[in-house]
This record gives sequence, structure tokens and C-alpha cells, in this order.
Amino acid sequence: MSDYDSVSADVEHEEEIPEDHPRYQDLLTRHRIEAGVEKGITHLQGMHAEGRGSAFDYLLGEETIPSADDAERAAAAHLLLADHPVLSINGNVAALVPGEMVALAEAVDADLEVNLFNRTPERIDAIADHLREHGAEDVKGLEADARIPNLEHKRAKVDADGIYDADVVLVPLEDGDRAEALDEMGKTEIVIDLNPLSRSPQVADVPVVDNIIRAVPNMTEHAQALADADEAELRSVIEEFDRERALENAEERIRSGDL
Ligand code: ATP
Repeated sequence: MSDYDSVSADVEHEEEIPEDHPRYQDLLTRHRIEAGVEKGITHLQGMHAEGRGSAFDYLLGEETIPSADDAERAAAAHLLLADHPVLSINGNVAALVPGEMVALAEAVDADLEVNLFNRTPERIDAIADHLREHGAEDVKGLEADARIPNLEHKRAKVDADGIYDADVVLVPLEDGDRAEALDEMGKTEIVIDLNPLSRSPQVADVPVVDNIIRAVPNMTEHAQALADADEAELRSVIEEFDRERALENAEERIRSGDL
């Protein structure tokens, strides 16, 4: 029996998970989703999404592969070049990386918008409060006064001066239908999703196949490193990124990864 066999997945506080545990990130992620469900910010279905993500992350070696790092740099360049970048927050994103999303929004001067698949006023308010507790000043998504075309009414709701108006959107862990509908609106779409075969990364301009826990802080670091870059440099970072190759590399790693 290893020293770690006694570490339960249902610890009370995340500090109780030893950082040198071989499955530290996985335990931390599970704990944050459970805490999110308890706090009313994450839907029970978020647990299922988390389980799927966890399996893919295991096969990726639970690390940011080089093509994902390239995608994260290209994403940072897109967000910095945008006229109106918006970062979309759902229940899993709010549970896993609230402070990290606030930091990214600050680094690229983006809006934060709560955008839920299972939308209820209680969850919208709980997530907005949770983001404010993590330093967010302005949280969009409460008005929901515009609709994404070609999407069922309830799932189409967005803010007119938020996602509806955005030219670049970051939609982590997004549902495939909504990712497709946003793509059809002509937006530049950055998707974070551990499954490269899922429809959302397949339609994204920048598919980031990485765990959101690693991806968002890394995007912020890239944005900070590119903060003084001129437009030509940012455009060349974007042009150098090859979305097809990034998807292929991730799939190849998952199918034949040496663990
Ligand atoms: P689609 O409609 O696009 O086919 P799906 O049915 O695969 O979507 P869900 O079951 O809702 O969507 O799962 C959401 C996606 O989020 C999954 O592809 C999963 O791999 C991914 N995911 C879950 N947790 C994480 C995480 N921590 N980081 C990145 N991606 C994640």
C-alpha cells in the first residue's frame, strides 16, 4: 500500500490533498467540481463532463503538450488583438478556475460573461457572486437580452453587449451545438476541451486540447509575455498556429501516448 492510498477523493478542503500526489491535479479537479455542486454553481451533469475530461487528461499524460502550448499562445494573441474579447463562464469553469479567468480577463482586457447550458437565475447569481469573490468587477450574462441565432431559445441567451457583440470569444468546455452556432455567427472562437474529437474543438479557430486548470494560467502568461508585441507580431503568432495539426497531435498523443 502506498502512502497515498489513504487520500480520499472527498477531502473537506483542497489543502488536504498532498501536492506531490501522483494524481494531484485530478483529485484537485474532482474536489473543486464537488464543491461547486455543493455551492450551487455547478450542475450535477458537470460531474459527468469532468469524468470524461479526466479520462482524456490521463491519456494525454496530464501535461500541456507542445501543440496545446502553441494553441494557448495563439489564443492569447487573438484575445490581445480583439476589439471586444469575451470569456464565457459555465458552472465547471467557475468551479475550477474562477480566479484564473479573472486574471486572464485583466491581462487581455476582456469581459467575463456567465453562459450556462442549464440556466437558472439562482445559478447565474451564484456564479456571478463566486466570480466577484475572486476579484471580478463587472460580470455579464445577467441581462440575457440577445439570442444566438439557430439555437433553442433557453440555450441561446446572451448579453447584447457581451458575447453577442464580441469578435473573439473564449468558450471553455462548451457544448457542441452552441460552439457551432457561435462559429456560424462569424466569431473567432477559442475552445478549451480535452477531447479533440468533440464538436466544439472541431469547429474552433483555436482548439486548445488541455486541462482548463493548466490552459488558462498558461494563456495569461503568454498574454503577459506578448503585452508589448505590435499588431504584426501578434498576427504572425496567429498565422503560425496550425489548428488541424494541433487537433491531430492531440489525437495522436491520446491514441498512442507513452504513459
Ligand atoms: P459535444 O456536444 O461537443 O460532443 P460533449 O457531449 O462531449 O460535447 P460534455 O459531455 O458536456 O460534452 O463534456 C464537456 C467536454 O469538456 C468534454 O469533451 C470533456 O472532455 C471536456 N472537459 C471536461 N473537463 C475538462 C477540463 N478540466 N479541462 C478541459 N476540458 C474538459
